[in-house]
Amino acid sequence: MPSTKKRSGIGRLPHPIHPPQQVLILLRLLQEQGFEAYIVGGCVRDSFLGLYPNDWDITTSAMPDEVVNALPGYRILTTGLKHGTVTVLTDDMPVEITTYRIDGAYSDGRHPDAVFFSRSLREDLARRDFTVNALAYSPAIGLEDHFNGLHDLHSRTLRCVGIPEQRFQEDALRILRALRFAATLGFTIEKKTAYAIYQQKELLRQISAERIQAEFSRLLCGRNAERILRKYREVIAVFIPEIQPMAGLNQHSPYHIYDVWEHTIHAVSAVEPVPELRLAMLLHDIGKPLCFSMDAKGIGHFYGHQKLGADLAEKILERLRFSRQTVQTVTALVRYHDISITDDEVRVKRWLNRLGEPLFRMLLQVNRADTVAHSAAAAVRMEMIRREEFVLEKILADKQCFQLKDLAVGGKDLLAIGVPEGQSVGKALQSLLEAVIEKRCFNQKEALLVYVKKHILK
Ligand code: ATP
Ligand code: MG
Repeated sequence: MPSTKKRSGIGRLPHPIHPPQQVLILLRLLQEQGFEAYIVGGCVRDSFLGLYPNDWDITTSAMPDEVVNALPGYRILTTGLKHGTVTVLTDDMPVEITTYRIDGAYSDGRHPDAVFFSRSLREDLARRDFTVNALAYSPAIGLEDHFNGLHDLHSRTLRCVGIPEQRFQEDALRILRALRFAATLGFTIEKKTAYAIYQQKELLRQISAERIQAEFSRLLCGRNAERILRKYREVIAVFIPEIQPMAGLNQHSPYHIYDVWEHTIHAVSAVEPVPELRLAMLLHDIGKPLCFSMDAKGIGHFYGHQKLGADLAEKILERLRFSRQTVQTVTALVRYHDISITDDEVRVKRWLNRLGEPLFRMLLQVNRADTVAHSAAAAVRMEMIRREEFVLEKILADKQCFQLKDLAVGGKDLLAIGVPEGQSVGKALQSLLEAVIEKRCFNQKEALLVYVKKHILK
């Protein structure tokens, strides 16, 4: 691999890397014992991008036992020892310190068969996935940039360290990490790396559903998710093949200017970056390809795509091992994404009763994103969604009744006026709730009891 090593001397210049005090102390303690020690990877990359890093990882020439010996008095976890990682529990946070490492051969397309420790920083940086993740920095020495990572950071380019084909064959998860970084950081994937991603996308089949799920959720919530979904649809289709028929599916409708896939990815980027919402938008029309029909006027219809889509969404999300909660929420959002928007208080209360407030609020966000992604004719629908939201706020602010526990009477009150014990009580309460929601009766004790006597006990 050609070395383009640059020591920028950035340590002496104003620079954007400000590790917490605790991390600086660890670097110094290791260096005082004669070892090399740098912060490395995501924290250096994120610092240059003006983002606050999630965690600060240290890479060092010290062997794991030397790390432990160099840090007396620290609480240290050795669960990652096999890979050369010790975790130091500082007062502020855990810090992972990993010995310079060379990864052995990969036979399972994910994990090295063996790892070898090294005394060479360059060797450690060479095993890292992308050039922007292969930067190391120490206040004493400055930036170590052996693979032109700083240049790629400035031009917002994601490029494999080494030969892309080889790097993806070693560990196929890197394919999805590339898409995730490109989506979250807004980077462009360099040509050869992009080509290798396409060529070797099938390798993703070796990756566990849990790992795919974690990376894919982050990708979907990235600010550039739309661009990545457009450009790398066929890569994502390796683990969600159900998206393929959406591409190019003309809706034959004056309300849609895009095909189903283009509409879908617009809808994804139009909703807040929360996994459940983004997944709901990704899957909201997944049932359409199987439900297409055209009427005599040449207008396309997709009868039943909501229910079928919900069933498909459930299967996909379960396959990717999403949590039960996520599966249920997203499936419900797909199931109801097409319900008619209304500013009718009675109907809003019915939906509130059926879905509960949090899910109903999410559904409004889904409606909005879906609508924005349609066409200009969507403006009228947008206005209706605003009105529906206004009605929702009013119902909640007025503390109006839309569920059994809001009723001003309970089972005991009904028994006291002669409603027979057993199922009748539940049925009567349900009828009362209906009557209150539909404004046929006030939610007030006397009025409700009169209503029961007149309509239920008659
Ligand atoms: P983030 O924490 O935002 O996910 P990160 O770059 O810190 O981003 P980590 O998974 O925390 O990602 O990994 C830390 C570093 O380890 C990376 O920056 C990279 O140098 C290296 N790394 C992680 N996973 C791989 C991999 N699959 N192949 C090669 N290098 C990797
Ligand atoms: Mg990290």
